[in-house]
Amino acid sequence: MADTADQPERVTGEEAERIKRDVLGIANRKKHHDRAFTALKSRAKKPGTQQRVYRYRFYPTPSQAEQLKKTFGACRWVYNEGLALRVGAWERHRVSVGYAESCRALTGWRQASETGWLREVSSTVLQQSLRHLDGAITRSFKQPAKYPQRKRKHRSRDSATYVRTGFQWVENPDLPGTGRVTLAKQSEPLDVRWSRPLPAGVVPVKLSVTRDRAGRYFISVLVEEQIEPLPAMFLSDGHEPKAVGIDLGLAALVTLDDGTKVGHPRLLRKYEKELARLQRGLHRKKKGSANRGRARERIGRLYALISDVRRDMLNQLTTRLVRENQVLVVEDLAIMNLLRQAPGTGRRRRTGLSRSIADAAWGELLRQLRYKCEWYGRTLVIVDRFFPSTRRCSDCYTKGPSLDLSERKWTCAECGAVHDRDVNAARNLREEGMRLYWLVASALPPGRMPPPVIKTTELAEVLLAA
Ligand SMILES: [Zn+2]
Repeated sequence: MADTADQPERVTGEEAERIKRDVLGIANRKKHHDRAFTALKSRAKKPGTQQRVYRYRFYPTPSQAEQLKKTFGACRWVYNEGLALRVGAWERHRVSVGYAESCRALTGWRQASETGWLREVSSTVLQQSLRHLDGAITRSFKQPAKYPQRKRKHRSRDSATYVRTGFQWVENPDLPGTGRVTLAKQSEPLDVRWSRPLPAGVVPVKLSVTRDRAGRYFISVLVEEQIEPLPAMFLSDGHEPKAVGIDLGLAALVTLDDGTKVGHPRLLRKYEKELARLQRGLHRKKKGSANRGRARERIGRLYALISDVRRDMLNQLTTRLVRENQVLVVEDLAIMNLLRQAPGTGRRRRTGLSRSIADAAWGELLRQLRYKCEWYGRTLVIVDRFFPSTRRCSDCYTKGPSLDLSERKWTCAECGAVHDRDVNAARNLREEGMRLYWLVASALPPGRMPPPVIKTTELAEVLLAA
């Protein structure tokens, strides 16, 4: 019998059906088709509305905490089992297994006696876990993202997603925008702290429940609401949209083309130092010891604090940038990865850590800019990673020598301009971003607004669709 490694061809048709049924234990389609999935089609959002997520802290009762612990564990187990099923099916049998078939396999796991504990968790929640896996796999084919990894207990965040059929929502008539949320398989509503109300009268589309590394519980509520775009920002001539170039860096978190620099907040620096100290300590503690567990918990709490402070600070920054500008230009984050240092010890490990914290800040910054541009009718231009934003002189466009990371200032050999490295990069980004913006804007029929995101790599598609 031939080794499957010698047969790279994909197996399809009846043979594939047979392998799925007899070898992989995925039940026949007809038998389970009707009851396993109904409310799962990702629904299109209502026209004229934007999706928005509101996040609240809640305090579970002991029995709710127990049930959530089971739910998180089951979600992780199903994710990993789904991943193993799909990878194994391909590697051993050259059969590709999709989302719907994973769901049928899940039905089988829930019925099997040794994994019957899965029945204590709502099936729609587990199906969402498979959907996240499916999304991660699809994304890994589209862009050079990593193929999904197994979720590990202490490394991945605890989370579970409830679609509309997985929770009950009763709005409080006295305090519109707040109400009672009861999760599937739970009898009592959650004790949610409504730090601000949801828009009155909305019905949440989806909920996700998380427990962070500091042991705090949060509920994120996805709603569809009407968000009014902001009035467009034009320069005084009335034609040129107001634009800003945003350079992301390590020395300053953000540098704008007008020379403004926004650093990492001092509080974060303090936390980072503390984090580095704790992590050095962790390496000295014995694996599996109680001391190590405690150290890990403290690190988790600190990470949670850092991400809270960072999110708040970035929210203020991105709101300001989006309010004041019509076009915002950033560089593709992939370019930053090119500069990444290999992990090391001592000083280099410290650099690696502040590096990874900065990475997270840039990711969060881009995420916020993206959705705020969409909400408020702005355009975010993401410039290609091959654009020489640092090396080009923003005065005469001569390409200079490549600069070491430590060189903060340089003089253009052609025109003699003295540049701050990051301000020069931001000015170049702004200029290149506006070139791309006009390329798209001039291809659109009059009166049509440019899209909320213009990305160099997707420019051809945008222009074709115009
Ligand atoms: Zn020059």
